[in-house]
Amino acid sequence: MNAPSRRATPTTWIGHVPVGSCHPIVVQSMTNTDTADAVGTAQQCAQLARAGSELVRITVNTPAAAARVAEIRQRLDDDGLGVPLVGDFHYNGHVLLRDYPDCARALAKYRINPGNVGTSRSQDANFRTMIEVAVEYERPVRIGVNWGSLDQGLLTQMMDDNAQLAEPLDAREVMIDAIVESGVRSAEMAEEFGLGHDKIIISAKVSSVPDLIEVYQRLGARCDYPLHLGLTEAGMGRKGTVASTAGISVLLHDGIGDTIRVSLTPEPGGDRTEEVMVAQQILQSMGIRSFLPQVTACPGCGRTTSTFFQELAQQIQSFLTARMPQWKERYPGVKDMDVAVMGCVVNGPGESKHANIGISLPGTGEEPRAPVFVDGKLVTTLKGESLVSDFQQIVERYVADNYSPDQSISDQT
Ligand code: SF4
Repeated sequence: MNAPSRRATPTTWIGHVPVGSCHPIVVQSMTNTDTADAVGTAQQCAQLARAGSELVRITVNTPAAAARVAEIRQRLDDDGLGVPLVGDFHYNGHVLLRDYPDCARALAKYRINPGNVGTSRSQDANFRTMIEVAVEYERPVRIGVNWGSLDQGLLTQMMDDNAQLAEPLDAREVMIDAIVESGVRSAEMAEEFGLGHDKIIISAKVSSVPDLIEVYQRLGARCDYPLHLGLTEAGMGRKGTVASTAGISVLLHDGIGDTIRVSLTPEPGGDRTEEVMVAQQILQSMGIRSFLPQVTACPGCGRTTSTFFQELAQQIQSFLTARMPQWKERYPGVKDMDVAVMGCVVNGPGESKHANIGISLPGTGEEPRAPVFVDGKLVTTLKGESLVSDFQQIVERYVADNYSPDQSISDQT
């Protein structure tokens, strides 16, 4: 699958991570700990980073939180985790960034919501203060517009202007324009205050998928800043995952988007890293980046009356996930591997032949044998109780034979 061609942007460096231009689309996440709890926040940042989050955003909402940001950075560095930290500021960012220079230095990027930088009278001055800190410490800024906290002064002015038109647009159209306008105007103002053009990323989040697509299409056409994508308040579980995937995928397919976050609401006590894995899966399913070998499994049907093939698909996925940390170090290309686990003879051999390794299990009434295909060729037929472990051994051998760095050198010669 060919990855879609991207909208042209400058490169914005967030710490050591390049965003935009031809650089890989970056996966980011956000903690839900109290940042004043430096130990807990550093632990969650570490979990997110180890799951593959390439940027981690933390809330910086109080003096107590700002006072602990440098310690969080230090704790991550001590663990050998260089993941850049992004500070999320609302209402008092101009105060916190000035009063806590260690915080300003420890953060690799500041997220500023232009709707939440103060009252209309102080808005520009507060915004200017934050931009001046960013200029002083050479940090990029994300202008993070959110429809739930859209600049009300701007929206009112645009609604009033619209009402004067001979054929006024409907309110939704004006709101989408206002979201885009807020992002672009704030970015231009940041440049007027001295921030480099290549130090700005914009996001414009809404909670409806059609609105999200329209907002970003207009935003992408209006400016060349790198764009951070995400659906705000995506929700829990299946709804949040599907809605985020629907919105983000359409935009990525249009070549729009340079970083993504999937804002899932976790179950109580749930795993925060789920949002990282969903973001990675979106990019991998779109053929844009690879993170983990993929298991293609058929859904099963009346031809598979046992759960055996479901169990095998699950065991193979768990095996690949468990082996990845070691494989990643030793076999850099393994993340591109496809493994097929199919339920019967109808599509099994065909799909298995398209994968790097495939197994076609016997359906109901078929002979209890499972042909295994490697790079499209039938190599063996497995049966009996050791079928799962035998198949895992074949996968293990395939990885060692095909993805070792030595192998790729010999392939090139
Ligand atoms: S491969 Fe076989 S078991 Fe799987 S869905 Fe197709 S027909 Fe059903």
